[in-house]
Amino acid sequence: MIDNSKISSFAIQAIKKLKKNNYEAYLVGGCVRDSLTGITPKDFDVATNATPDQVRRIFKSSRIIGRRFKLVHLYSHNELIEIATFRAGKNSLSGDQNLVTDNLGKIIRDNVWGSINEDCQRRDFTVNALYYCPISKEIKDFNNGLLDIRKKRIVSIGDPLQRFEEDPVRSLRAIRFSTKLGFKLDTHIKHAIYDKGHLLFGVSNARLFDEMCKLFLHGSAEKNFLKLHKFNLLKYLVHTNPDQSNFAWSMIIEASKNTDTRVKEKKSVTPGFLMACILWPHLIKISSNKTSIDIRKFYRNIDFVLKAQQKYTAIPRSSQSYIKDIWILQLKLQSRIKRQPFKLVNHRRFRAAYDFLIVRERASGESTYLSDWWTKFQVNDEALKNSLIEQRKAEENNKTFGFLGELR
Ligand code: ATP
Ligand code: MG
Repeated sequence: MIDNSKISSFAIQAIKKLKKNNYEAYLVGGCVRDSLTGITPKDFDVATNATPDQVRRIFKSSRIIGRRFKLVHLYSHNELIEIATFRAGKNSLSGDQNLVTDNLGKIIRDNVWGSINEDCQRRDFTVNALYYCPISKEIKDFNNGLLDIRKKRIVSIGDPLQRFEEDPVRSLRAIRFSTKLGFKLDTHIKHAIYDKGHLLFGVSNARLFDEMCKLFLHGSAEKNFLKLHKFNLLKYLVHTNPDQSNFAWSMIIEASKNTDTRVKEKKSVTPGFLMACILWPHLIKISSNKTSIDIRKFYRNIDFVLKAQQKYTAIPRSSQSYIKDIWILQLKLQSRIKRQPFKLVNHRRFRAAYDFLIVRERASGESTYLSDWWTKFQVNDEALKNSLIEQRKAEENNKTFGFLGELR
């Protein structure tokens, strides 16, 4: 039974309006699945037999988006609802140029409208194909999704080998849902991930960036990272090559832990911070001569590393400048020359850079000397700040911190 008080009233109003206009409309996907598993839904998806143009005509504040997969976005002042028209399958009589696959079986256009009976076959997993009418409170379940929720398992609708060929991102989605819900992956799905994971190479970097954010910024980053590693999928998402023994590995683990804790504490998380952590080990590796960092190479390699990653996932411009800032600040956090620390604490990225330093120290297992120094510097009064600067001068040959532990 779904408790309607957990459902957005804006979404319910939208469904009522569609019905008043003689269309079918249901809540579908994550919001139904999450409600049934005791998780508060984060957004609401609606499925209807109205075409995007028809939906658009009914709602003033709506917009048609997407080309490969057309949808309508419906806005209220603080909410966004996605309204999707029922899709038909390949064998649909209306099949035409609106459902197109490439020679590897990947769907490159998916805009053939159909009925709810067809739509339910086009969704990815059984637990994602439950249709809920908040007015009659009825749940339509064509694929035994309710049973799979009870049995706590992610099961593909149709043969996962074919479904992952149609859309390789489904393998990442399977992992994400199994982590989020604590469900096990059905054996056929596991095989299909191993078999078809390589097709992720052909997915646009923009889509992989979106999926990467969903995997890493919603509170289960560490678990998702370990699963991605287990299924050999990391190499399609990140340009570095973490293995259990190296710094690149511990850096992702620590960054993931840090992000998961922040999500739990309802603090903000950004893709930039995560990317900065993931790429940092590679940046310093190629900028070092085994014992120290070559500053000139470091600066030169920044763009190179960002560009290399963009062959995998896009990195929005705003994140790029954020990443560069935190990387460059790492050098300054270390050097602390003259009056520089006084300026640095007021830098708009200081807080992020300081958090980043802590992640680095945890990952390298190095002394926390440097972050401790900055912790004290931030909270102390002017006199103590000056004494810390004096202390800094005396530590010229202190090798207990720095980049050394990170070059493994
Ligand atoms: P969440 O929003 O929590 O990430 P969700 O299940 O709602 O999970 P969405 O990406 O919002 O995921 O998609 C809504 C629904 O659309 C899904 O539940 C699924 O039924 C369908 N869907 C989304 N992406 C795909 C896909 N790549 N292949 C097949 N069906 C999909
Ligand atoms: Mg959703």
